[in-house]
Amino acid sequence: MTPDLDTPVQYLKGVGPSLAKLFSKLGVSTVRDLLFYFPRDWEDRRNIQPVSKLSAGEDCLVKGIIKSVRAERTGRGFNLVKAVISDASGSVLATWFNQPFVEKALNSKKGSAVIISGRADINPYSGGLEISVKDYELPDGCEEAQAVVPKYSLTAGLYQKTVRRIMKKALDLCLPRVKDPIPEQISKELGMGLSSAVKGLHFPSAPEEAERCRQRIAFSEFFLLQSAIAIRRKEIRQDTKGISFDTETELASKFLSVLPFELTGAQKKVLGSIKKDMASCKPMNRLVQGDVGSGKTIVAVIACVTAVSNGYQAAIMAPTEILAQQHYFKIKELVSRFGIEVLLVTAGENRKHNKNKDKVVQEQCIVVGTHALIQESIKYSKLGLVVIDEQHRFGVMQRTQLRAKGNNPDLLVMTATPIPRTLAFTIYGDLDRSVIDELPPGRTPVMTKYVSEGKRASLYGFMEEEISKGRQAYVVCPLIEESEKIDLKAARQTCDTLKAVFSRHKVELMHGRMKPAEKEKIMKAFKENKIQVLVSTTVIEVGIDVANASIMLIEHVERFGLSQLHQLRGRIGRGAEQSYCFLMGKASSEESKARVKVMLETNDGFKIAEADLKLRGPGEFLGVRQSGLPEFKAADIIRDAELLEKARKAAFDIISNDPDLAEPQDRELKAEVLGRYGKFFGLDVIN
Ligand code: ADP
Ligand code: MG
Repeated sequence: MTPDLDTPVQYLKGVGPSLAKLFSKLGVSTVRDLLFYFPRDWEDRRNIQPVSKLSAGEDCLVKGIIKSVRAERTGRGFNLVKAVISDASGSVLATWFNQPFVEKALNSKKGSAVIISGRADINPYSGGLEISVKDYELPDGCEEAQAVVPKYSLTAGLYQKTVRRIMKKALDLCLPRVKDPIPEQISKELGMGLSSAVKGLHFPSAPEEAERCRQRIAFSEFFLLQSAIAIRRKEIRQDTKGISFDTETELASKFLSVLPFELTGAQKKVLGSIKKDMASCKPMNRLVQGDVGSGKTIVAVIACVTAVSNGYQAAIMAPTEILAQQHYFKIKELVSRFGIEVLLVTAGENRKHNKNKDKVVQEQCIVVGTHALIQESIKYSKLGLVVIDEQHRFGVMQRTQLRAKGNNPDLLVMTATPIPRTLAFTIYGDLDRSVIDELPPGRTPVMTKYVSEGKRASLYGFMEEEISKGRQAYVVCPLIEESEKIDLKAARQTCDTLKAVFSRHKVELMHGRMKPAEKEKIMKAFKENKIQVLVSTTVIEVGIDVANASIMLIEHVERFGLSQLHQLRGRIGRGAEQSYCFLMGKASSEESKARVKVMLETNDGFKIAEADLKLRGPGEFLGVRQSGLPEFKAADIIRDAELLEKARKAAFDIISNDPDLAEPQDRELKAEVLGRYGKFFGLDVIN
């Protein structure tokens, strides 16, 4: 039997269960995974140097016979393995630093060849030239002829030689089965087929060729994703009939006329686009980006009121219970005098009222909730508008699920994370975008300071002064699931300490594990300034809006991500008073130092997002991993931005000519797109 791409690697000749287990650690379980497990680097063995030609201070690659091996301890207790390597031109000493196990491996191959890459330098004690080894390999004969060899990321027990041998075998047997999803025409223009690119990326004839192959594969990856996005866009925007709302209802204009403030120019502009979308008979699909505090909520509420005044229901989904509750109370306050009902749907709320049974929302109302909104048991009789707040906390899948609760309802997605344009093409590529690029007037930028442990007492003194002037403070403690118990204990201790420090004021603790009713009570008391210092875990991270809170102390700053810190800081600076954000903790690693530096330097969400993206990479940044979006194997969204745009254009061209990919020449593409992205983007409508 010849294996196909879905065959488990275990059934490849020469693999077997134990190797298969090692491969699975690398995320490789099928032959397809294996073929798309690309090298991290290549070694150009055409550059092997004679040892007599090595010069100090330069990287080198040598091949020679292992003559002798010994291990030594340095004065400071480090282990050194030293081996004499010789080729036709002479011999050289190679040293391995702190890898004692190398001694045995080398000894067993004494008299055979070794290939070493590393750095040649003069040993200050002996005055002789030595190579400090970065990487080495004990080749077997069959690789002699190979000019450029791939280097894979490995796991303990797996060797380069083994992976190469199995990869070669898999390529020989299965490469023809790798189908190029790209229509022939485009593939021709690219000058290389996908399967030659896959082969060439593993075993290029020169390192430059590897890069060309990588780009070719990246193009295919981008093209597939963009095809899925194009199909989704087509499906949503052209063929589907949505709701054409009357956007100038009496109720909506009355609501606008009694708002407690005037909308900013940016809010008005975005609202204009939303109104246009809502009036159109095609479903709205809009992403609103705006930095924390830019006033996205009110824009969403206006859209909801418009939908409700047309006789529909509107749903707002928020990522946390606290935020859902806050939206609920705020919206209720705004709309109840217009006779609009507001419902709260969260897991806690359901438990409280024992409402787990089937629920059909029938009234003309605004439903606010967490992901409990998309539960099977909740049905909507006439869902007209779906709003997703803090989209970056949700996956695309949840967006699809909530939309499916209605009959092509309008969709409004909001996020505080600004996303560079090309990145937005990947995960939000199916949405129209608007930006609220202006903050409401009268805000004073938050002052951010790093405070060392030794200054804690004087910081408390300062906080006491501010609180006595009537301000309120957040003290944020980290809480991560793995060490939840310890973290909770630490948060409690912090709270107890602060109760003693700020004995003239009320100090309370809030965390995610509390019952919703308890959290609700505490949030309410904080809002009413019955609590002055709120010690909290990151449950307050998103959305919370208490204008009188002007101080935030973040403990263990090293344990927070940059975007998270920015979101947290966004809780203050919401009133006219000067606000202060204090960062404490051991910011000792390079990365946490970098994060603190950015926080001290800027309040600008765009700059912070850019820095965060650089520090964490696009997968983490976008939450792609949690979202379930398949990862790219060769493509790099940042480096390959140009390719991405090109692939996007090509994909959109194809889809606009053949929206259902029904033409025979597009059949392959359709199968690939559905296989890879069908579930993710809810593309099951095309068949
Ligand atoms: P975010 O965009 O972070 O979700 P919010 O919608 O919570 O921001 O708004 C932050 C605060 O600004 C809220 O208290 C809100 O009432 C207030 N706000 C929103 N728009 C305006 C405006 N045009 N003028 C004054 N205050 C506003
Ligand atoms: Mg918000």
